[in-house]
Amino acid sequence: MNRRNEMSIRFDSYSTNEGFARVAVAAFLADLDPTLDELADVKTAVSEAVTNSIIHGYENRIGKIYLSCAKESQRIRIEIVDYGKGIEDVAKAKEPFYTTRPELERSGMGFAFMEAFMDNVEVDSAPGQGTTVRMVKQLGIERI
Ligand code: ATP
Ligand code: MG
Repeated sequence: MNRRNEMSIRFDSYSTNEGFARVAVAAFLADLDPTLDELADVKTAVSEAVTNSIIHGYENRIGKIYLSCAKESQRIRIEIVDYGKGIEDVAKAKEPFYTTRPELERSGMGFAFMEAFMDNVEVDSAPGQGTTVRMVKQLGIERI
């Protein structure tokens, strides 16, 4: 099955929906037979990106988060979009331990985790426009 298979969902930025997003992606990937490690990696990456949209993108208001996922053979692509406040300096935001919300006991490791657990992470963002995070991962590498 090499045909591209996509799903997309839109949900409100309530913090309880972070768990929903994670499980929705995991369920969509189930037929690829990911290993437990692969599944944990993808769920963590989704959870970090969605949490960022909730906490930083929309701060104290409720906005829409768009999540889409595509499977093409064993390669998965995930995109998470918010139309919240955006990021001024993406390179700086990606640095480990960089956080603009230390008062919330954020550790500044979200992007570092996404980059560690996925093969590629791209961030597109502009202040006042919102943020798009695109992540790619090839499953099954350890089984080849
Ligand atoms: P942690 O993820 O460890 O709890 P954190 O969220 O601050 O802490 P990162 O996830 O690495 O750390 O994000 C770094 C910074 O990038 C954030 O502090 C925030 O300023 C900015 N940021 C990340 N995602 C978004 C987003 N969707 N909208 C606006 N700003 C964002
Ligand atoms: Mg974060």
